[in-house]
Parts: sequence; C-alpha cells; structure tokens
Amino acid sequence: MLKIDAIPAFNDNYIWFIHAPDTQHVLIVDPGDAVPVFDAIKQHDLIPIAILITHGCHDHVDGIGDLLEQYDLPVYGPENEFIPHITHPLSACDELSISPHFPAFRVLDLPGHTKGHIGFLMEGCLFCGDTLFGAGCGRLHGNPAELLFRSLQQVVELPSETLIYCAHEYTEANLRFAVEIEPKNEAIRQRIVDTALMRKQGEVSLPSTLALERQTNPFLRCGQSDVNKAAERWSAQQLDSQQAVFTELRKWKDSF
Ligand SMILES: [Zn+2]
Repeated sequence: MLKIDAIPAFNDNYIWFIHAPDTQHVLIVDPGDAVPVFDAIKQHDLIPIAILITHGCHDHVDGIGDLLEQYDLPVYGPENEFIPHITHPLSACDELSISPHFPAFRVLDLPGHTKGHIGFLMEGCLFCGDTLFGAGCGRLHGNPAELLFRSLQQVVELPSETLIYCAHEYTEANLRFAVEIEPKNEAIRQRIVDTALMRKQGEVSLPSTLALERQTNPFLRCGQSDVNKAAERWSAQQLDSQQAVFTELRKWKDSF
C-alpha cells in the first residue's frame, strides 16, 4: 500500500506526496507553491524523484520553477496544455514507469475542467486534480459540459475501492449542494456528519473512495430519478439524458 501525504497549500489546495516503499523517495503532484514542498522535504529528509502535473491552473504549477532551481527533476504532465518545464508530455497510456521504486502508472485523459487535463492512476489511487472533488466536480472554464461528463463517466467505471485524491478541500461545501439536490439521501447525510468531524479535528477529508462518491456525489448520480427531478425543477425543463442532467447541475452549482 502506497504512503501518500497531503501537503496543504494556499487556502484549500493539497499537493500530494507519493512515497516509494522503504525509501525516502517521493513524487510531488501539482506543486502550486514550492514553499510548503521545500518545508516538507526538509522536515522529513525526503528525496524528490519527479513532479506530476494534472493540468495547467496556476495553483497547480506555479511552484515548479522554484523546485527545479533546487532539484534536477523530470516533470510529467499533459501534452495538450502549455505548461512550462514539462519534460515528459503525456496523454492516456498504460504502464508508465518513473523509477523502479514506484509502481507503474496509468494516465487517463480527463478533459473538461481544462482541455488537456489528465489523471494518474497508481495502485488503485487516482490523482484527479480538479476533475472530481469530494461530493463535487471541477468548474468548466468555458469548456463544453459534455467533455467533463465523459471524463467523469470514465472515472466512475474504475473499481469501487479506487481512492480519490483530488486537489482541493471542497468536500464540506460540495455536500451542502449535494443535500440540496437529494435531501433524502442517507449516505449524503452521514457524510456531512463524518466530514464535519474530520474537519473539526483538523483532518483532511480525502482521499475518498469511488464507492462513496457514487453514493454521495450528485455529478456521478445523474441517472438517479431524484437527481434528475431536482435538475428538472431547477432548470424548468424536461431533461432526457444523464448528460443533460449533468449540464444543468453544473450550472446550478455555479450559482449556488
Ligand atoms: Zn484547476
């Protein structure tokens, strides 16, 4: 089982550290700020091996330059976005190996939040950046809702025990929206209680499991009749496909 740590950055970002078993080696996912990364490396005497980038938003990439001034690291990231410093441009592929100390990875194309967004799947852990959040999903930034819908369909088909490592602590706010849509959903109500307790104790609400997201994340529940009805009520129109429901939910969330 991989050891993975959340390094908090800015207000609500997490930079994920993936540790290689039995070594000090670490992979750094989405370093938007180099300062907390340097601190964590020093504090735990770690050896950074590579940087992994899911997409090009500033709060995910702005620390890369400073890290490269200190360490000579390969940078893996999406080939379809302009991101300075990327040495290994990637799109969907199987069995990518970074070093013998880390398990091989799979890369998923997850466009929608940004056009070239990718995710990294390593030993049942999905690093999905701003595609999927605890009980929510990323904003569209002007991209067609269909893109993100299709990316989430890809994620939802992964095994239910897949651990979801997203890049922001948005779970509590997202659950307030989720319960508005499905007030009778017991799993959402329970997750609100559980998440409030975790946050009160200063814990990270992530990773979640895909199983929990399937039960509580409205953006993965567009085929459920209560979700469909709520989206129809809000948009005052009949919605005949899951994609149409998703599109209205995303608009609703933007104004929530
Ligand atoms: Zn982003």
